[in-house]
Amino acid sequence: MTAETMAVGQLTVIGVGLIGGSFARALRQAGLVRAVVGSGRGEANLRRAVELGVIDRYELDPARAVAEADVVVVGVPLGAMRSVFTAIAPALKPSAIVTDVGSAKASVVADARAAFGARPTFVPGHPIAGTEKSGVEASFAELFQRRKVILTPLPETDPAATAAVRSLWEAAGAEVLEMSVAHHDAVLAATSHLPHLLAYGLVDTLSRWDDSSEIFQYAAGGFRDFTRIASSDPIMWRDICVANREAVSAALDRYLEDLTALAALVRAGDGAALEAVFRRAKETRDRYVAMLEQ
Ligand code: NAP
Repeated sequence: MTAETMAVGQLTVIGVGLIGGSFARALRQAGLVRAVVGSGRGEANLRRAVELGVIDRYELDPARAVAEADVVVVGVPLGAMRSVFTAIAPALKPSAIVTDVGSAKASVVADARAAFGARPTFVPGHPIAGTEKSGVEASFAELFQRRKVILTPLPETDPAATAAVRSLWEAAGAEVLEMSVAHHDAVLAATSHLPHLLAYGLVDTLSRWDDSSEIFQYAAGGFRDFTRIASSDPIMWRDICVANREAVSAALDRYLEDLTALAALVRAGDGAALEAVFRRAKETRDRYVAMLEQ
């Protein structure tokens, strides 16, 4: 990889799914990679990735896949990070930059340090972009356009490696931010992990009511909007809730406290107080949507 051209000789993507596949597509579209090698769990997805032109070839053995890599992106579920890092560690070129896209960072950093030790070219990352779909079929080059990517470089991370990863995400159309691992995990617990937990929980609760088939028959757009993310991959979200359990629990405790207070207002029929909460929430959401549309 060279600073002037940002060209990557070989990019290896381990986990050529929605995120890994979209990253490969975006860098290809930007003309930044000469060769893309994929690796993953099953051959079917990798074969499809070749057919779609997302990768040039694949190796089922992750160590073989990274042996000549200049940049390695690990896009597997959080629960698979440690085994992938452990498998590739002995095969990496010392200069190879390794990054990941995992949705929680403390667990990934622990997994990386267990496998690599303090590797100066390991740059933890997380694109704040996605859909409820999975697999290479769902990937597209524009996924990261105007989306945020958070990098959480470590004390041992070489700033040049961080700059290189930053430049790749920027080439994919993203805005790159840096923050600490703990801050990332607390913020994402509140804005992403908690909403997914609530959506899954609500759909599950309703599905177990006796008259659930009638409930779903009459569910309208609001229900569909609120629960869209409950169609996300259960394995991925299982791993996120387990990996970031401390921050998710803290966010959940705060929410449950407020929900209990809200329930008391409903029970008391306190319309004025409910209206005040709803107004405050509406103003906050309207401001958020306006910011997105700027
Ligand atoms: P995905 O579409 O399901 O892709 C995951 C890929 O990892 C699949 O190709 C899968 O291979 C492979 N894989 C699974 N287990 C593996 C293992 N043990 N060893 C090697 N490869 C394995 O998932 P995704 O949505 O791209 O998510 C990938 C990562 O991105 C996760 O860490 C997630 O936290 C993070 N992330 C997701 C989103 C989102 O909204 N989806 C957003 C930001 C970050 P097979 O197809 O053969 O099973």
